[in-house]
Amino acid sequence: MTSAGRFAPSPSGELHVGNLRTAILAWLFARSTGRRFLMRVEDLDRARSGAEAEQLRDLAAVGVTWDGDVVRQTDRGTLYTEAIGRLAAAGLTYECFCTRREIQEAPSAPHAPQGAYPGTCRELSAAEREAKRAVRPAAVRLRSAVTEVTVQDVLHGSYTGVVDDFVLRRNDGVTAYNLAVVVDDAAQGIDQVVRGDDLLPSTPRQAYLASLLNIPVPEYAHVPLVLNADGARLAKRDGAVTLTDLAAVGAPVDEVRDALLGSLRLPGGPLAHALAAFDPAALPREPWIWPGMAGPDA
Ligand code: GLU
Repeated sequence: MTSAGRFAPSPSGELHVGNLRTAILAWLFARSTGRRFLMRVEDLDRARSGAEAEQLRDLAAVGVTWDGDVVRQTDRGTLYTEAIGRLAAAGLTYECFCTRREIQEAPSAPHAPQGAYPGTCRELSAAEREAKRAVRPAAVRLRSAVTEVTVQDVLHGSYTGVVDDFVLRRNDGVTAYNLAVVVDDAAQGIDQVVRGDDLLPSTPRQAYLASLLNIPVPEYAHVPLVLNADGARLAKRDGAVTLTDLAAVGAPVDEVRDALLGSLRLPGGPLAHALAAFDPAALPREPWIWPGMAGPDA
């Protein structure tokens, strides 16, 4: 399988300029290294009807192209079940009956890192599990043998983060993001993962899971986010931040694309120009504060 990069949007609503900027970067990283570029819709959770089509339309409008068909996670349940089955067969999973609240209120295990699952259900007896199953369905957690893992990132260097007994399948039956992303990246031959740096803290968990599944760990590049004027992650409530809204205030898509490229210190115009000038080492390492955009009569 040839190597590939990807963009993996969650179809919960329209993409905002921050998402589009990350997609452009993922495309530039992949294309500048001769990789294929794949589009995967992460629709296991919070999918909104119509959002996928809007997102793909907006990605195409800024010049992001992809190879082959769009893949949807909801079509890939068998792969996830098979991976969880392999982990279970190796004794690497357990059932967890904790509610969110119980986890928050549980005393954390000694030496456990902040935010780690406290291990409440790790050593339940068969009889205890049986009794709990009658009360509520179980989530499936990974029986992790480590508490932290170090990954290498093109932009962040060595990054060490928490690995706990994280959830593989939620108790409503939905496959957890951390499992799906690892299984999909491997099955699709993706060996370069470029995404927002809000996902850097999840990466040690994913790399650990890949190692347990005998999957090669991809190259990671976690790119800086776009923030609003208050320094918070850009969101829909920050005004005109989608292509539709920006067009409505007089900023056509080509101008938006060029503003995004400019924020990356890359030339505007069709993405081929930015591709010719692309150098990961020259990328800004700081988040970009969205300055807003408006047409002449705004
Ligand atoms: N679907 C995730 C998101 O939209 C991205 C996952 C990934 O790139 O690994 O935030």
